[in-house]
Amino acid sequence: MAYRAPVSAIEFALMQEAGFQRLIDSGKYEDLSDDLLTAILDEAAKLANDYVAPVNWEGDQTGSHLTDDGVKVPESFKAAYSKYIEGGWPTLAAPAEYGGQGLPLALSNAVTEMMNSNIGFQLCPMLSNGGVEAMAAHASEEQKEKYLRRVISGEWSATMNLTEPHAGSDVGNIRSKAMPQEDGSYKITGTKIYITYGDHDMTDNIIHLVLARTPGAPEGTKGISLFVVPKFMVNDDGSLGAANDVKCIGLEEKLGIHASPTCVMAFGENVDTTGGATGWLVGPEHGGMACMFTMMNNARLHVGLQGVGVAEAATQHALDYAQERKQGRKPGAAKDDNDAVAIINHPDVRRMLLTMRALTDAARAICYENGVMADLAHATGDAEAKAKNDLLTPISKAFSTDIANEVASLGVQIHGGMGFVEETGAAQFMRDARILPIYEGTNGIQAMDLVGRKLGNGDTIKAYIGEMKETAENCRQSNNPVLVDIAERLNKSVDVLETTTDWLVAQRGSLDVLAGATPYLRLFGLVAGCHYLARGAHAV
Ligand SMILES: Cc1cc2nc3c(=O)[nH]c(=O)nc-3n(C[C@H](O)[C@H](O)[C@H](O)COP(=O)(O)OP(=O)(O)OC[C@H]3O[C@@H](n4cnc5c(N)ncnc54)[C@H](O)[C@@H]3O)c2cc1C
Repeated sequence: MAYRAPVSAIEFALMQEAGFQRLIDSGKYEDLSDDLLTAILDEAAKLANDYVAPVNWEGDQTGSHLTDDGVKVPESFKAAYSKYIEGGWPTLAAPAEYGGQGLPLALSNAVTEMMNSNIGFQLCPMLSNGGVEAMAAHASEEQKEKYLRRVISGEWSATMNLTEPHAGSDVGNIRSKAMPQEDGSYKITGTKIYITYGDHDMTDNIIHLVLARTPGAPEGTKGISLFVVPKFMVNDDGSLGAANDVKCIGLEEKLGIHASPTCVMAFGENVDTTGGATGWLVGPEHGGMACMFTMMNNARLHVGLQGVGVAEAATQHALDYAQERKQGRKPGAAKDDNDAVAIINHPDVRRMLLTMRALTDAARAICYENGVMADLAHATGDAEAKAKNDLLTPISKAFSTDIANEVASLGVQIHGGMGFVEETGAAQFMRDARILPIYEGTNGIQAMDLVGRKLGNGDTIKAYIGEMKETAENCRQSNNPVLVDIAERLNKSVDVLETTTDWLVAQRGSLDVLAGATPYLRLFGLVAGCHYLARGAHAV
């Protein structure tokens, strides 16, 4: 019942469905080739299969704990993390100037999907990655030399500190304060909640990126600034100095991802003696939200990939069980044939398995093309790629995480009573998946983003719908009856998407658009997913 990284399916999705070849052909990535892609995926699969996925269950059962000496993660996670950084995996898509390999995000996304066979583990690298992107784009050269290199290498991790008790979806409400000091630093005070890997013992230092307000800052998001706040001060020679006044003062008890510490962080707990946690401004004062937006798109895509990872793992798990568990007679068996058969022989179980497989593959292709578009936009400045990247991001995040919950739930169903019993592990996928539609902007917020900023006048979506029609036409012209049938169904679905899009554009500004945002995103994800799967079927 062990997870097997689906290397062939991943490679197929990248090359045949998501247009990875365009990145190779762009010439913007030195040495990038399909051979390199295969080699990297094969190596990543070994890490996922041998070290990361096998500790998923143990991590869930052991959990992380807050002690007098800080947060302790499961021992098995430390071993997996060592292997992860030994192999240079955090460096894949990071900038080459600071020790990264400068490879496409789309490639590192595929590796990330495999590591997401254990979301509780992968959250630490995911948050570090967000920190890398924010610092690479906005930190000063001095800050980059001091912090960025060691976060890229994985020697240190990074966190993102946005949320406060009264400021969740509405980040503009944050109250944490940053007081300027004569030496150019700031003293940060305030409480942040739900901070993922806010403290842990897998790295020697943790670099916190914190949103706070400077004195007299404008209300709302316009008055927010970003600060870098190390757990331990870093001396000029790179050695670690005194502990900063930042501390995890509580861990949340959660439904899932038990191994991932979700921390209440106190900045300036000892304010009377320290004046607050010492931090430094990153980017311009009051420019904190813009800095955050730099990494927001990729962070949302990464959460979508968490959905794909957990859906894949749950699907494999259910498939294995369905082949082992014997129950009931073979459908249509002779009257005297009373032998019990594996439940995979039952059409209803097959229906569930095929639904799981189709939804997972559809979400994978959406996320992967999203990554390819992000790379093209970044490497070539292609405006259409940027628009498509922006359009696909809320769909990748919300559709993939919604289907992850459906897939994990079907996985429990396939296990029957054993699915409800923890020891099979099927329930863990369902518990872990539940957070995905909530963090990194709830799926409701993603849907509003889609019908608001991303829909615009509908031009980008129209171009995308054109691609979908082209896929249907290619299938229709194949003369393969199965593909012709797919073409007919895809065309009907695209018509519905087009009509709905036209209606939404015409109703722009009305509350009905917001009320219909989530069903529209779902429709969009399903039709886009069909389009990629049809493209894949045509390529075979
Ligand atoms: C396990 C975990 C890890 C997390 N990790 C981090 C982290 O590392 N760093 C960090 O800063 N934060 C983190 N978060 C916080 C997370 O991003 C927030 O929980 C999330 O943004 C939602 O905010 P909220 O919980 O305050 O919910 P609320 O904002 O109160 O939302 C409640 C409900 O109202 C809806 N809603 C809210 N506003 C609107 C609106 N304008 N229109 C329509 N619907 C709306 C939401 O969609 C949701 O359904 C984490 C949370 C959890 C649980």
